[in-house]
Amino acid sequence: MTLFTVGPVEMHPDTLDVAGKQLPYFRTEQFSQINLESERILKKLAGASENDKVAFLTASGTGAMEAAIINAFDEKDRMLIVNGGSFGHRFCEICDVHGIPYDEIKLEFGEELTESHISEYDGKEYSALLVNIHETSTGQLYDIDMLSAFCRKNGMYLIVDAISSFLADDISFNRDGMDIMIISSQKALSLSPGLSAVIMSSRIFDERISVRKSVCLYLDLKSHIKNGERGQTPFTPAVGILLELNSRLKILEAKGIDRIISETAERAEYFRKIVKDLPVDIPEFRHSNAVTPIVVRNGNAHGIFEQLMSEGMVVTPSGGDLRDKVLRISHIGNLKLEDYDKLKNHLERVLS
Ligand SMILES: *Cc1c(COP(=O)(O)O)cnc(C)c1O
Repeated sequence: MTLFTVGPVEMHPDTLDVAGKQLPYFRTEQFSQINLESERILKKLAGASENDKVAFLTASGTGAMEAAIINAFDEKDRMLIVNGGSFGHRFCEICDVHGIPYDEIKLEFGEELTESHISEYDGKEYSALLVNIHETSTGQLYDIDMLSAFCRKNGMYLIVDAISSFLADDISFNRDGMDIMIISSQKALSLSPGLSAVIMSSRIFDERISVRKSVCLYLDLKSHIKNGERGQTPFTPAVGILLELNSRLKILEAKGIDRIISETAERAEYFRKIVKDLPVDIPEFRHSNAVTPIVVRNGNAHGIFEQLMSEGMVVTPSGGDLRDKVLRISHIGNLKLEDYDKLKNHLERVLS
């Protein structure tokens, strides 16, 4: 079985070794040191600085998205949300549940986010822009420079769900003017699902998060930051995934962020090249290196997903309107160029 899915992904042997071991007790100096080291490396890979804050949450990515929003904003704010698919829609759902006002920039499948979409919202007093920089449900990568410049000009906080872009695309916390970056374990980090990280600029932490009343005990970022200063968490964390994280981060640090991204880009380009002669189309918008969306011309995408899975090749199916239209092939996780040659052979046969 080979996973060409966006998460969980193919895990590396070193991670699987860590995952197979007895867990330690965690309220110890040794475990604290491990987490402080992970925080340091994570910041480095994300392009964050010493002063920025990191909270490790035992939650899937959605928990971290929710934590980021409810700790910084409330019903007196107004959000601008890029809703280009199911993850953008999730930001809207979070604001709905918590009564936080918002406007959404809604994109159809295949519609590229451009300057003309956002210029309409210029000068309109929003507190923040919420964006999934790679909308994983479609494979579109938004232009971080454009969004970052828009936020700077309008004095807005920039909240980036980078869950499927971190380690795959050229994004960088400080360079790109982010106030919050959201990361999760099961995407390019290639760990077990269940651990997420929220990176916060000292600006948003000081101006918003540290001064507000807590609205959720479990997802209170203030208490996570306070405990994190000594390498701990307020509640029992996903101890095993924190150990997987530490082991993987040390390997990633040695490799360096540029090489990590360029290897992912190489896999993406390779796959996009070898499927050119198959009866599928790749939409025109800007792509993340993490995923290639393919539109199946015969309109039986879900059936093809099932057939491929029965042959041990697990690609990512789509939901909703895209169910029979789009498959997504991941380039994150422990995948090699040869894996794409194999997938291409299966695809060629199943599609004909
Ligand atoms: C995977 C992903 C998430 C997290 O989803 P969970 O199911 O909560 O882990 C959030 N945003 C994006 C862009 C993602 O790709």
